[in-house]
Amino acid sequence: MALSGLEIFKLLPKTNCKDCGHPTCLAFAMALAQKKVSLDACPHASDEAKEKLAAAAAPPMQTVTFGTGDAACQVGGETVLFRHEEKFHRPTVVAVTLPDSLDDAALTARCETIRGLAFERIGQPMPIEAVAVTNPSGDAARFAAAAQAARGTGKAVILVTESAAAAKAALQAVGGARPLVCGASAANADAMASAAAAAKCPIVARAADPEALADLADTLKKAGCGEIVLHLDATDPWAEMAGLARMRHLALKQNVRALGHPVITFATDGGPADQAVRAAALVCKYAGIVVLETLEPWALLPVLTTRQNIYTDPQKPAQVEPKLHAVGDPDETSPVLFTTNFSLTYYTVEGDVEASRVPAWILCVDTEGTSVLTAYSGDKLNEKVVAKAMQDAGVESKVKHRKLIIPGYVAVMSGKLEEATGWEVLVGPRESNQIPRYLKEVWSS
Ligand code: SF4
Repeated sequence: MALSGLEIFKLLPKTNCKDCGHPTCLAFAMALAQKKVSLDACPHASDEAKEKLAAAAAPPMQTVTFGTGDAACQVGGETVLFRHEEKFHRPTVVAVTLPDSLDDAALTARCETIRGLAFERIGQPMPIEAVAVTNPSGDAARFAAAAQAARGTGKAVILVTESAAAAKAALQAVGGARPLVCGASAANADAMASAAAAAKCPIVARAADPEALADLADTLKKAGCGEIVLHLDATDPWAEMAGLARMRHLALKQNVRALGHPVITFATDGGPADQAVRAAALVCKYAGIVVLETLEPWALLPVLTTRQNIYTDPQKPAQVEPKLHAVGDPDETSPVLFTTNFSLTYYTVEGDVEASRVPAWILCVDTEGTSVLTAYSGDKLNEKVVAKAMQDAGVESKVKHRKLIIPGYVAVMSGKLEEATGWEVLVGPRESNQIPRYLKEVWSS
């Protein structure tokens, strides 16, 4: 937690020697509190002052990295309890399990399925980033082989075992991929910490309540584990949600450093629908990582969509580049439509134009990421804005006709738009899902 100027002043030598360029230690302390200067500017600061100021300046939640290269995942580093206060910074890593009890053929098939899981929404990929290798076989060699198979998927690896021997075997096999070792409990903390620290890999601390987690995190830190993730092994989903909220509050508002770590959660109980509901709730409160057993795309999709929504910046609507977009292979006779650069609006329109199978041009107008009606109400979408967007995009050079299809919701601007552009304005459908019928039946007739 940041120190005030007076608290910093108490740590300074108070000699007013001016060597820092400030007339007094108090003036320097005030400047330091406002982050206008660095403590290095005072050559006389004691080691105690340096240590206390460094600790106070440290972020309230650690950022943990596991995986390497394209598979690297970062979790934690969060600064707020509620998204609207600023934003959440590091989207929840979604992982799926790979049990080491599968026979070779089933293991290969599951890895293939995992590798093929690909989702996209509003133009953004929504990946499954990690594979959590589990150890139901209890066998160290099988666990290591499954970890190697997981690494082959190109995703980050989480090693889920209570056996330090199995963790060591897997770390020997895939330690270079910097897996997350999951993990340590009160029963195996020393051996697990030693294995993770030797491999320089992050580790998970598991306990049933926040107090025990804080103690275990301290133990792991003293044992040389630099990066720690917490697993609250609660009795039921509600206890877990309440516990995670309490831990987040203690870490960010009460400055409880031992709880200032990201959290891993497991939504592996029940069928795919149960897992999806629990995982989506955990994404909201406050999972850094969520592990599911299901590979059903229909169950993973709502989890990934929830994540995408929760981790957008509430101050910045998702936007598409404002320009003339080609859908299909349009030519000089193809229709020209316009819509706004709010991602959800644009990609809905684009999808419906694609579905019509009529090649077309879509002019994406910059309305600062707002939808058609919102932009029109806020005067971010008017005849001048559209005319300028047409000019900037060189629409006239793309088609030989002079017809512009506008969203039905802004039919009211058609007259002024015709005056501003000299183009004939055709009022399109109000709802995007009517575009295929419009393009096939009205435009093409
Ligand atoms: S250099 Fe240090 S001791 Fe001297 S005035 Fe500045 S803050 Fe105070």
